Amino acid sequence: MRKFSGDRLLVATHNKGKLEEIADLLKPFGVTVVGAAEMGLPEPEETGTTFVENARIKAHAAAQATGLPALSDDSGLAVDALDGAPGVYTADWAETESGRDFVMAMEKTHAAVLATGKSQPWTARFCCTLVLAWPDGHDEVFPGAVEGRLTWPMRGDLGHGYDPMFIPEGFETTFGEMDRWEKNRMSHRADAFQKLVTGCFG
Ligand code: IMP
Repeated sequence: MRKFSGDRLLVATHNKGKLEEIADLLKPFGVTVVGAAEMGLPEPEETGTTFVENARIKAHAAAQATGLPALSDDSGLAVDALDGAPGVYTADWAETESGRDFVMAMEKTHAAVLATGKSQPWTARFCCTLVLAWPDGHDEVFPGAVEGRLTWPMRGDLGHGYDPMFIPEGFETTFGEMDRWEKNRMSHRADAFQKLVTGCFG
């Protein structure tokens, strides 16, 4: 496992929220975090068929373009009744001509599960893969997940994305009904970050 030894890390995301979350997390290690937008980097096309492939594409493109170690993440919802769909296409299922619509995406997911005729519990997991890539082509990969099940109708207006239809294992509330602090303790992203910090920043 290669340790991160520099003081500047490029985060291969154009999402300000993700950038701030990562900057906070790495502050104790004396790492200055730089965003992709700040460096004028384009968003590469995510042509992979797995979370790992897509996270690798983003991290390596950013490391090559800037000469800095780069961290990327790719995430989504995998539903067992749908053989892992929407998976890497989780964001795509929400796409409309006027932007992303996650209520529509959840309705689509529910309809697809119903169409399989499979009975409940509809087991599913949120996945998040983090990749730290160096300009010399080396990388380290950290997969994270949180197991749970889908519920319908959707519940809660906290959180984002598919949170209102997902209940994590051992709970009765959806991610959409949990405050951010509670969700962030157990989320797929927290799991992957824990592994990243232990592996490369510990
Ligand atoms: P990306 O990794 O930024 O491409 O996001 C993948 C998709 O998964 C987005 O559409 C998110 O809404 C969804 N997603 C990822 N993590 C979560 C989560 O914690 N809750 C709800 N939806 C999520």
